[in-house]
Amino acid sequence: MNAILSVRDLTVSYRGVPAVTGYAVDLEPGTLTMMLGRNGAGKTSTLRGIVGFLPGETGRSNGRIELLGKPVRRPHPLTLSRAGLELIAERNKVFTGMTVDEQLRLVAPTKALKNQVLEYFPRLADRLMVRAGLLSGGERQMLATALALLRTPKVLLVDELSLGLAPGVVRELMQYLRRLADDQGLAILAADQSVSESLAVADRVQVMDDGLVVAEGAIDELDVEGVLDTYLGRE
Ligand code: ATP
Repeated sequence: MNAILSVRDLTVSYRGVPAVTGYAVDLEPGTLTMMLGRNGAGKTSTLRGIVGFLPGETGRSNGRIELLGKPVRRPHPLTLSRAGLELIAERNKVFTGMTVDEQLRLVAPTKALKNQVLEYFPRLADRLMVRAGLLSGGERQMLATALALLRTPKVLLVDELSLGLAPGVVRELMQYLRRLADDQGLAILAADQSVSESLAVADRVQVMDDGLVVAEGAIDELDVEGVLDTYLGRE
């Protein structure tokens, strides 16, 4: 096992009420792990717990995290970003008044990297001069992903990329994740509720219910039908 991110015994609670208990994962380079589960199952809390991005007043997380073989003592989004881990959050912020190009240039260390990232998102490349506020939902998610990639992460955590988007757009976004794992060797953990679109691209699946991982495995080992019936409901 050659994990780039390892998480063990992660717990997340809000005002002392547990939302996630005993979460564990190992992410290897070049793999895509999809985390599935109904609303409120604990997916967002898990991802936020890993990066230490919980509401300060109420949220607490605990657990053992190793990134690139080094223990992360006190997770914080900024220090983890510098160490190679990016979270694309559920309602990610793009600056709606700035054009796509302005935002990319703000973050891109070099023009070459900007162009390299844009090769993944031809739709964005066509919309460079458009203000982000005028982008479609799918294009905004592409911009958020592109901005994360410009920080040259090794590990990408993605929360609900498909939220509120049409199935065709969801499939397109999922294919981007697949390609990023395959071409860039990224280790990706993505939480989503689009079950069939997620299963179509995943190497591994984790199913969460009530704060626990209730089923997990490689895509060809998992009893997909059983999981669908028991935890996710038919689509
Ligand atoms: P969703 O798809 O709605 O984001 P999820 O699977 O990501 O769902 P979480 O948002 O992690 O689930 O929620 C897990 C549990 O934690 C739920 O019971 C939720 O009510 C609770 N919770 C989440 N955020 C907070 C918060 N800021 N304060 C208190 N409880 C919270």
